[in-house]
Amino acid sequence: MQFPEKIWHNGAVKPWAEATTHVMAHAIHYGSSVFEGIRAYETPKGTAIFRLDDHNRRLFQSAKIYDIQIPYTLAEINAACKEIVRVNGLRSAYLRPVVFRGYGGIGIAAETPIDVAVAAMAFGRYLGEGATENGIDACVSSWQRFAPNTLPAGAKAGGNYLSGQLVTREARRHGYGEGIALASTGLLSEGAGENLFLVFDGELHTPPASASILSGITRNSIIRLARDNGINVIERDLPREYLYLCDELMMCGTAAEITPLRSVDGKPVGDGKPGPVTQRIQQLFFGLFDGSTEDRYGWLDYL
Ligand code: PMP
Repeated sequence: MQFPEKIWHNGAVKPWAEATTHVMAHAIHYGSSVFEGIRAYETPKGTAIFRLDDHNRRLFQSAKIYDIQIPYTLAEINAACKEIVRVNGLRSAYLRPVVFRGYGGIGIAAETPIDVAVAAMAFGRYLGEGATENGIDACVSSWQRFAPNTLPAGAKAGGNYLSGQLVTREARRHGYGEGIALASTGLLSEGAGENLFLVFDGELHTPPASASILSGITRNSIIRLARDNGINVIERDLPREYLYLCDELMMCGTAAEITPLRSVDGKPVGDGKPGPVTQRIQQLFFGLFDGSTEDRYGWLDYL
């Protein structure tokens, strides 16, 4: 991976190699970090960060759950995101704000200093070249998502991604592009780093917040774009077998964008090709960045 020259770290832009931390930082031992993944797109009106404020609001919400006091304001983190894209001369980027319990205590609940960094880097298709056009093959994981009373899935915390690593690593080991986890209820939850939408009779169905999902900003964007364009969306509990019975199926997330699934557990989804509702949603979503979808929502935050 090609990393850029500069990174924002604890209030300053510095050379990439100088943004270091101590091996005894709390987050390394206990997973006590919260983070975001945000994309910036090149648009006809210049580079725009997609839903910057919404992402960083979620960063503050994740921090609140774990009593992490971010030593900057939301406006300062938003400004840092813009600055780091600008100083690296990136026209499109994947941004990674991360807040973590740093060096200064070994106790589980130690009050440590809080470190903050924002990286921005060039980033292509997360699930492989051609994934958004052709779709990928997925499987249901043997690993479940954590139950709601164990770890809060609604926090985007570093430790949660131990679950994601098990799910994706198992899927890749068996030759699939991504894994889908069931919730502790046995009902559908989400991919390792993506929310799910199933299509039945032209309507979108997606698991609710109570299904141990991270409520994705891409998921929310799809819900709003769909409803505003006459496509019905239903948030509901969904059993596993609906993965095999639906007409179309897609995964969505900042990294995965909108990726159709061509098969699940070796069974084709529909006729195995991205269907018309998926294509319409992709057109509406990607249209925000080429100007063919009007940004009625103020989602594009220009540098
Ligand atoms: N679920 C999980 C577990 C994720 O890591 C992500 C990616 N952040 C998503 C869903 C999708 O969220 P978003 O659309 O906000 O990127």
